[in-house]
Amino acid sequence: MTTYIPDILRREVAERAGFRCEYCRVHQDDRLFAHEIDHIIAEKHGGQTVNENLSLACAECNRFKGSDLCSFDAITETVVTLFHPRRDQWTAHFRVVEGVIEPLTSTGRVTARLLQFNRIDSVDRRRSLMRLGRYPAD
Ligand SMILES: [Zn+2]
Repeated sequence: MTTYIPDILRREVAERAGFRCEYCRVHQDDRLFAHEIDHIIAEKHGGQTVNENLSLACAECNRFKGSDLCSFDAITETVVTLFHPRRDQWTAHFRVVEGVIEPLTSTGRVTARLLQFNRIDSVDRRRSLMRLGRYPAD
């Protein structure tokens, strides 16, 4: 579903994110395609088009996330919610080691797997950005 999102709201979300994908943290300037506005809780699950339910996501993260809210974690054998950019601290769930986004929690594991953070091309791209001092954010 595509709901109209006013430009001012898009700008607020992008600025709050520092123009970085709130999932994989790649900067808008380092991707070919424009980052997108993601409904953290998808509209089909009742998520609203309001600032606190929106995040900035690169096209890949947004596509792999789709309308999903959670996934199955094989290690804890539980259904776990995905990383929530408004409620969760990125560094509590992930760390970057040589371009690989390593999950630190079950939420990190299901998010990294579902959003396919560590496909070889993504890791290679992050390593190149690291050499240029453009990744990670902190
Ligand atoms: Zn991303």
